[in-house]
Amino acid sequence: MSEKLKELKQYIENMNRYHHVVTLLQWDMYTTVPKEGYDRHADAVAYFSTQQFQMSVDSKLGELLEVLNGEEYNSLEDDWKFIVKRMKRDFEKNQKIPAKLYEEYVRALSESQRAWEEAKNASDFNIFAPHLKKLIGLVEEVTGYTDPEKEIYDALLNQYEEGMDSATIDRIFEELKQELIPMIQKIIAVKQPANPKFQGDFDPDIQEKVQKLLLEYIGFRWSRGAVGRTEHPFTLNFTSKDVRVTNHYHKENAISAMFSAIHEGGHGIFEQNVKEEFDGTVAGSCGYMGIHESQSRFYENIMGRNRNFWVPIYEEIQKLLPGYENISLEEFYHEINRVENSLIRVEADELTYCQHIILRYEMEKAIFRDHLPVEELPALWNKKMQEYLQITPPNDAAGILQDMHWSGGSFGYFPSYLLGSIYDGMLLEQVEKELGDLDLILKEGRILEVTKWLNEKIHVYGSSRLPKDTIWEVCGKEVSAKPLIRYFKEKYSSLYGIEL
Ligand code: ZN
Repeated sequence: MSEKLKELKQYIENMNRYHHVVTLLQWDMYTTVPKEGYDRHADAVAYFSTQQFQMSVDSKLGELLEVLNGEEYNSLEDDWKFIVKRMKRDFEKNQKIPAKLYEEYVRALSESQRAWEEAKNASDFNIFAPHLKKLIGLVEEVTGYTDPEKEIYDALLNQYEEGMDSATIDRIFEELKQELIPMIQKIIAVKQPANPKFQGDFDPDIQEKVQKLLLEYIGFRWSRGAVGRTEHPFTLNFTSKDVRVTNHYHKENAISAMFSAIHEGGHGIFEQNVKEEFDGTVAGSCGYMGIHESQSRFYENIMGRNRNFWVPIYEEIQKLLPGYENISLEEFYHEINRVENSLIRVEADELTYCQHIILRYEMEKAIFRDHLPVEELPALWNKKMQEYLQITPPNDAAGILQDMHWSGGSFGYFPSYLLGSIYDGMLLEQVEKELGDLDLILKEGRILEVTKWLNEKIHVYGSSRLPKDTIWEVCGKEVSAKPLIRYFKEKYSSLYGIEL
């Protein structure tokens, strides 16, 4: 190994120590920190993130990357070719952001996350509005430095799914929307009364047991994983060897937390199986959120909402959850696939979920493209809810304040969920081609075969392969919504006994 490469590895190691501290502080901030301790925490996060950021723009790093991308490039292994090239690109981007602006941005993030929580609890958008406005301004300013040649919203989309732009998303989403509208109407016309059996009083500790059972079942590795409780479920990873997933337990209904467990478990399994050699580098951890969501949603929807997923474990679930002894697997299967126009994205069925995302995608275009004033956002949100889901939120908490994404500066993230589902339609076809009928695999309790397939085909690569290359390598096709549409039609026409 060349001296320069050794030096770079040492440099990365030092940067990771800051990353480790920041991640730990963030974990604590979301899961444990008391209200009055928040400020001190936010301050420490801002300090250590800024230190880490300054290391990422230090001229010493620039010099190392210059040599490794120049005369020494050809002597590098392929993985390191990717890493040094990617680092150089990020270095040049980061260097364009003034340090003061970055620090202000990090601080604004901490403040807006807290304001969002307060606003959501009080169901008052006005508490969050000034923070959102500030954040939008800062994001536009930062993007102006990093991607001066790109249209802002395209630059933001690209941050979460590299190689993706709004023209492509418009086309794929439109294809889906045209099919979904009549499909949902036909399904909703079939009477599906809510089953009162699912309402109860479910102890969070018992729900956590169910979560752990599900995580284990799908292949989450405990030697590399831990769980916590938060307002909104998420996955946080230090390296592939330390991946944490959180959940939120609703006392009156256990289903929501079960599916969050499977969803975050899918993200977690991805991170736990990225090639170890990538840990701490730009190739470690998957930074493409469409691909990431394709994994969490493959577990949650394609497998988790399949009747056969539950065949091997349903009896155990019945033993844990009070009242479930009187609920048949058939009833459970219908409940977890009940299609209805509802308010909350994370609780939506997999069909109407698509509409929730299309709505958010259009909201973000209104913010960054049409520069709609922040004060007008709730009204636009409510109008679109009525248009797409025939329902108007009774308050902000059940409307525009329901998601944490914007408070965390994640603009352009929402489309990733739907891209994930679109990729899933394609992955399902490929799994069946290579491993056989998924219904049978699940029914026979061989789900870990699918996990292994996903590990080998997708997870090990981390960020070292771009999304469109991943889809091309795994499925041998360009991205298309057709397989997902086909999956929806087959599943729901048999579920509801109707022609779709
Ligand atoms: Zn997710």
